[in-house]
Amino acid sequence: MTIEEIIKHQEQLIEFIKIMNIPKYPTEENEMIIAALEKQIPKEATTQGISQDGCWIIKCPECDTVMEGKRNIANYCCQCGQALKWGD
Ligand SMILES: [Zn+2]
Repeated sequence: MTIEEIIKHQEQLIEFIKIMNIPKYPTEENEMIIAALEKQIPKEATTQGISQDGCWIIKCPECDTVMEGKRNIANYCCQCGQALKWGD
């Protein structure tokens, strides 16, 4: 089962719980699962430039935090935990 499939399943569960109007099952838990899993799907970091000592300066697409590091080492945002993919 992929992350995308689990997210889809959680979304379907939220729909079902809302349609059936089951107050015993709040959808907050499902929403938290979706939010946590979405951060594991890598998003492309925006390259801002290269610093004087040769480190890449990138920006998190999720929270706009600017980080500096060696290419392909910062695989997660240090601020929000978003999985990062480096652009070319
Ligand atoms: Zn971030």
